Amino acid sequence: MARRRQLYEGKAKILFEGPEPGTLVQYFKDDATAFNAQKKGIITGKGVLNNRISEYLMQRLSDIGIPTHFVRRLNMREQLIREVEIIPIEVVVRNVAAGSLSTRLGIPEGTRLPRSIIEYYYKNDQLGDPMVAEEHITAFGWAVPQDMDDIVALTLRINDFLCGLFLGVGIILVDFKVEFGRLWENDEMRIVLADEISPDNCRLWDAKTNEKLDKDRFRQDLGSVEEGYREVARRRGILPEGGPADIKGPKTLQ
Ligand code: ADP
Ligand code: MG
Repeated sequence: MARRRQLYEGKAKILFEGPEPGTLVQYFKDDATAFNAQKKGIITGKGVLNNRISEYLMQRLSDIGIPTHFVRRLNMREQLIREVEIIPIEVVVRNVAAGSLSTRLGIPEGTRLPRSIIEYYYKNDQLGDPMVAEEHITAFGWAVPQDMDDIVALTLRINDFLCGLFLGVGIILVDFKVEFGRLWENDEMRIVLADEISPDNCRLWDAKTNEKLDKDRFRQDLGSVEEGYREVARRRGILPEGGPADIKGPKTLQ
């Protein structure tokens, strides 16, 4: 990664200029943040696991016809992606009550929702990623109604597919967050899945014990955070090949 030009450093990843126009290199860090970056820490080995898990999930979604930004994984911490125009909305899907839904509406964590619920949050760190309605999104021009139709259709397919993929290995997909972007090819625009899908932005519970295998282990100081992520990868049979030797970084400080 030495000679690459850095374009953006976010909370969990760094974007570098890619080898060809229209491509980027996404580098997965071990940094973890929660509660609008008020809580910070390092989860040693997280970047390696998230790079691999996100690669795997994007490939499986691509197999069922979901367009994604993913091109290929380059190494333990980097993947080549197509540069897209990110739609500044975090799309959250909930199947079981947890997190802010439980807090805001007083629904006990673990309650199965009557149907899957999609929520939108405006991507803006200064404002703390506030929840918004589709009305705000279209009124302020962050996306047009046709974009939203595509986003909802893709999101529901992603949710159904991932629910089954995880349930097959004894994991409940409680909720997750995705981002979409516009990809231009000649004069055609397509909405594609971008960013990452990993235990950083999914809630994943063991189906038998309800044990949390995701970033809530960090948020709630439950310990063994990396082990939770590793368990998700292990159950899908995709543990990074190299093992701990590939995982360099400071000690966990949560
Ligand atoms: P943040 O702290 O803003 O969430 P991250 O650490 O998650 O940032 O870094 C990823 C950033 O790159 C996000 O802002 C995300 O919207 C953006 N991004 C993800 N995929 C793409 C892509 N294919 N093209 C352009 N930007 C992208
Ligand atoms: Mg992010």
